[in-house]
Amino acid sequence: MDKILTMNISEMPGLSFDCSCGRHHSFPVHGISIRKNAIEDLPAMAAPFKDKKILIVFDTNTYRVAGERAVCLLRENGFTKVKELLFDTGTDILIPDEKTLGRILQEQDLDCKLMIAVGSGVINDSVKFVTSRTGLPFIIVATAPSMDGYVSDGAPIFSHGYKYSPQAHLTYGLIGDTEILATAPQDMIQAGFGDVVGKITAIADWDLAVKANGDYRCMTCVRLVEKAHEKCFAHADGLPARDPEAMGALMEALTMTGVAMALVNISRPASGAEHMLSHYWEMDYIDRGLNPIHHGIQVGVATVVIARFFEELADILPEGTKELCPPAEEIAALLKKGGAPASPKEIGISRELFRASLINGWTVRPRYSILQFAKDRGRLEELAEKLTEEFYG
Ligand SMILES: [Zn+2]
Ligand SMILES: [Zn+2]
Repeated sequence: MDKILTMNISEMPGLSFDCSCGRHHSFPVHGISIRKNAIEDLPAMAAPFKDKKILIVFDTNTYRVAGERAVCLLRENGFTKVKELLFDTGTDILIPDEKTLGRILQEQDLDCKLMIAVGSGVINDSVKFVTSRTGLPFIIVATAPSMDGYVSDGAPIFSHGYKYSPQAHLTYGLIGDTEILATAPQDMIQAGFGDVVGKITAIADWDLAVKANGDYRCMTCVRLVEKAHEKCFAHADGLPARDPEAMGALMEALTMTGVAMALVNISRPASGAEHMLSHYWEMDYIDRGLNPIHHGIQVGVATVVIARFFEELADILPEGTKELCPPAEEIAALLKKGGAPASPKEIGISRELFRASLINGWTVRPRYSILQFAKDRGRLEELAEKLTEEFYG
């Protein structure tokens, strides 16, 4: 039943099983390869489309780090109908908006049967969204270990200047070449690590929601995320130096969390109150027309803050919950070990925004969390004051 817990991540695609949580889970991704030189697995992964038209999408940067090699490998292996779409971005940042999505759609010929997205973030999200609407499978060649959305079905995109995350679909396959991932900018590595650290409070929050609110939980998914944690955290000190093994463990943790989310069809295994704070901060930045800080960097910082809530409320938490959240200090030290920021001040969150997010964070989404627990027990205002003082002096 819990066979998945003994599996290597590359064995998980296609899995379908009756779980000890009482539900049936399936993971309809066809292939995952995370290793050194994983890009060499691309031709085999795309083999069912060898004689079909394939559209491969990259920008100037991702073409250089992985796209050129991907096209070469496909051609060398007898793929003859590979069409390239290069977003010539120069030093500009590509935005997943109407223009980008429309351009991809324009380049999708009627006989196109597969798309390959070379790039993390924008390229991945854009190709994921377009193919979900046109009904094509897509393969992602990741270029940064920056987020946990590789095997999730959401695609954050822009419409009329506003970001939202419509449901799209799961990838056909994922290539995570650790040598390529190691070339990612440092802030994207910090972001990926922060997002993984965030799973600590997400899992503690899920436990609280089960005990204080009667929520559903799948322990197999919890263990899956914990397993991913252990390996990634054990290699955290290798991240600042871009050690390939640390990159692999980080990418695996991000992907494994995605697997857990896909199995239960909810983001619970990956997102609790720490994500509510980060979304609150992000919305404020967007409202003011500013570029938000990387999602995962915010999440890492917010995890330290939420851990303080678990500490402050330890006496009234249901039995066994507080043990799931390590001390805030330990989490901050872990972030630092991985080279990531650990305090809201450090990433430029203002005192006012911080205080407001503690008080209103629970309204971001209808999900039971430690913030809701604090509010229901009449402790939210008092803790918001205390922690604002503590983090800002
Ligand atoms: Zn996240
Ligand atoms: Zn389950």
